[in-house]
Amino acid sequence: TPTQDETATDLLPAVPADAPALAQLEAVGVTAWFGQRKVLDRVSLTMPAGGITALIGPSGCGKSTFLRILNRMHELVPSAALAGEVLLDGEDIYDPERRLIDARRAIGMVFQKPNPFPAMSIRENVLAGLKLTGTKASRSERDALVESCLTRAGLWTEVRDRLDAPGGGLSGGQQQRLCIARSLAVKPRVLLMDEPCSALDPTSTRVIEETMVELAREVTIVIVTHNMQQAARVSDTCAFFLAAHGTPGVIVEHGRTDAMFGSPQDERTSDYVNGRF
Ligand code: ADP
Ligand code: MG
Repeated sequence: TPTQDETATDLLPAVPADAPALAQLEAVGVTAWFGQRKVLDRVSLTMPAGGITALIGPSGCGKSTFLRILNRMHELVPSAALAGEVLLDGEDIYDPERRLIDARRAIGMVFQKPNPFPAMSIRENVLAGLKLTGTKASRSERDALVESCLTRAGLWTEVRDRLDAPGGGLSGGQQQRLCIARSLAVKPRVLLMDEPCSALDPTSTRVIEETMVELAREVTIVIVTHNMQQAARVSDTCAFFLAAHGTPGVIVEHGRTDAMFGSPQDERTSDYVNGRF
């Protein structure tokens, strides 16, 4: 007989049989510049496989920059420079022998403002990444993928009858889940989310949070959030970034979320998580 836990897990959407193994992401001594200006200074952080890591801290302390470094988007800014390493299961994603497309495919990104292709159908939005990565799939494989990704993103039952409707016609929260489904279609090992709920209403926020917690069974998640309740609700580990008075951003404290919120070691962490700045 199944235990109660097994029964509960059976009710969740299945993790696909061909899902890639859970991967750990690790930043080692990451320093970043825009032109002459250093914005991150020797940031090291392990983001455990199959966990949700929350990056918290005030505006301007380099959270988004750090997230973009984790999937090689930082280098899109002409003035940007970088030192340090980012290791996906021990392999440097900046290794010149590795193709950029492989790093981007393995490490997906969801942005603050939902950005589906508005004129493309819901179905075409989910499949958009396959074109970019040159993945070939039959019609039935594509249908199965669309259903699987929309299910895991928590959107399937709402859109199954209108897969040919434009993505831009969905509500904000639905559009964000469509973006999550689109990311999942290329079978990423890590999903980076930069304030994914800041533009959404509380109900949509809760739906996305539930989706995230389920997705962490199959993909490692890193989320930037300004919402301390959200960090406490969804994340296992947490890193507090701070950039004091024009100095570059550093991690002041990191560790298990319950410990960081329950008994922060640094006074600045305590002040921040308790809303004092
Ligand atoms: P956060 O996400 O924590 O609010 P950011 O990573 O967006 O912080 O920004 C960190 C610092 O880098 C800020 O001072 C910001 O002004 C600067 N910055 C961010 N993006 C760029 C850019 N494209 N060019 C120059 N400076 C930038
Ligand atoms: Mg930001």
